[in-house]
Amino acid sequence: MPLLSHLREKFPWFPTIDAAACRADLQCINFCPHDVFEWDATTGRPVIAHPLRCLPGCQICLEGCTTGAISLPTKREFHVNLERLRAAVNRTHSSPHDL
Ligand code: SF4
Repeated sequence: MPLLSHLREKFPWFPTIDAAACRADLQCINFCPHDVFEWDATTGRPVIAHPLRCLPGCQICLEGCTTGAISLPTKREFHVNLERLRAAVNRTHSSPHDL
C-alpha cells in the first residue's frame, strides 16, 4: 500500500502527550486500536512510538485519557488538511507520488 502510506505522511494527525498531566495509567495504550503508543520503561511513561499509525479523524484515546493529557489536532485542522491533500492530489491527478 505504498500510495496510501505516502499520503499518510502528508497528513499531520497524531496525538501529543502533556507529560505534566499524564498519570501514566496506561489507558492510552489500552484504548488505541492502532498501537500508536508504547510504554517507555526508562521514563515510566507512554510515548508516541508510531505516529503514522494514527488514524486521521480518530479520537478514541481522548475518551480513554481521564486527565486530558492527550491532545489531537482540531476537527477544523482535520478538514483544512483534508482539503489541502485533496487539492494536491487533484493537481497531480496522474501522479500523486509527486505530492
Ligand atoms: S487517535 Fe485513535 S488511532 Fe490515533 S492514537 Fe488515538 S486512539 Fe490511536
